[in-house]
Amino acid sequence: ETNHLFAAFRAAIPTLDKPLVINPEGGQETYGDALALSGRLANLMIARGVKPGDRVAVQVEKSWPALALYLAAVRAGAVYLPLNTAYTLAELGYFLSDAEPALVVCRPETEADIRALAASLGTACVETLGADGTGSLTDAAAGLSADFADVPRGPDDLGGILYTSGTTGRAKGAMLSHGNLLSNSQTLRDYWRFTADDVLIHALPIFHTHGLFVASNIILLAGASMIFCPRFDARETLALMPRATCLMGVPTFYTRLLDQPGLTREATAHMRLFVSGSAPLLADTHRAFQERTGQAILERYGMTETGMNTSNPYNGDRRAGTVGYPLPGIDVRVTDPESGTVLGPEAIGMIEVRGPNVFKGYWRLPEKTAAEFHDGYFITGDLGKIDDRGYVQIVGRGKDLVITGGFNVYPKEVEGEIDALPGVVESAVIGVPHPDFGEGVTAVVVRTPGATLSESDIHETLEKRLARFKLPKRVLFVDELPRNTMGKVQKNVLRETYKDLYR
Ligand code: ATP
Ligand code: MG
Repeated sequence: ETNHLFAAFRAAIPTLDKPLVINPEGGQETYGDALALSGRLANLMIARGVKPGDRVAVQVEKSWPALALYLAAVRAGAVYLPLNTAYTLAELGYFLSDAEPALVVCRPETEADIRALAASLGTACVETLGADGTGSLTDAAAGLSADFADVPRGPDDLGGILYTSGTTGRAKGAMLSHGNLLSNSQTLRDYWRFTADDVLIHALPIFHTHGLFVASNIILLAGASMIFCPRFDARETLALMPRATCLMGVPTFYTRLLDQPGLTREATAHMRLFVSGSAPLLADTHRAFQERTGQAILERYGMTETGMNTSNPYNGDRRAGTVGYPLPGIDVRVTDPESGTVLGPEAIGMIEVRGPNVFKGYWRLPEKTAAEFHDGYFITGDLGKIDDRGYVQIVGRGKDLVITGGFNVYPKEVEGEIDALPGVVESAVIGVPHPDFGEGVTAVVVRTPGATLSESDIHETLEKRLARFKLPKRVLFVDELPRNTMGKVQKNVLRETYKDLYR
């Protein structure tokens, strides 16, 4: 009996002295170092009473020991539970009481508060890990053996619980098994052609599926290396490109890179792959990036509950505004949200997904879990279509659909028209309570600096391009759209801000 996920990581190690994590400021950690530090940390978990299946909750800055801590939890048979560093103490109260971890690892700055919280919840043992890698965790682990016999775990045993981003409501804990994690990372490694020669610029957080289960797991399974940046900085990323082969980012990475005058064909010549996901990439960004660099950003689509579902092709047409084909072994279909009937090509409906990547359910929410499955398919909550070439297109979240006077308005269609106007950076179209229409289509727009475009200008142009019921009743200008740490526009925040607009 083996540890399903870690056995695959072990098998992929090229040599013990191969670098796994490269510090952009100099220095590196090898695969051998990863085995040793994760071994010590796994021994510490056992010493602290962590049993197979116990949750290990972690709210720390991105660092090399934080990555080793993830590996240690997997090896110890625990369920790794990373938490967004932006969560406040009040929010942590919810997560920790929900997850009941056996061990909490936090930043030294929050130790006192988290100790008090853990004590009040009556369970957890607390250790600290700072941004520089020091703290009680690494201190205690230093005295322990680097040898550790991996705890056996099967494909159906949980490897992690990841809370969703909370974009549409309270974050839910998605239970991901060793089998879920391994199958998806192997599929992506092969689809995106990762080999031991790759060097990834890793500038994403490691508390989210993108940076942890997509980026880090792929690198581990390819025996490749990653340059570990504590956070994304466009100038630094650009400077690292001659030493790297690929970048995985959220759309804001790419818009910020485009602001760098140094972003050219030459500057990106050593890179073989730019991946975007977690939020929609504007077709404009895709085009502008290709013009400047000659490289087509590869957009993919996934979510915490499923890992990645679809991807634009590695070879072949990477089509802007689409998220590509279903990945091998994964079935994607579109259904009528009311009747559940499976729809044909080009029809917009609910995107549903089935495959080895689909999670085991929401932690301690069996009814919610049951409600989100339909004949063995997971109901993603995203609306979209499969076009006649088989590419999946997302039109937005079901919860963001605007129903005005009985008509469905897909925000993305209206946003696309507004974004195409000169003087517009981006827009968000939302539905706001309206006494006559139920919801009023409302556009929140960010203008380019100096642009004088007015509400009536926008209205005039849109009138010629969109059916009357799709036209925004109001257009509001803001300096920037509210986004969460993954770069997702928080439409619920906008709906709250403008809820009385038509009253
Ligand atoms: P919550 O479920 O708590 O409301 P969330 O759905 O934002 O939050 P995640 O699991 O991090 O949490 O995000 C998954 C969602 O991100 C998808 O359901 C989809 O709406 C969006 N998404 C991911 N990739 C893309 C993409 N390439 N294009 C458009 N949307 C995307
Ligand atoms: Mg979601």
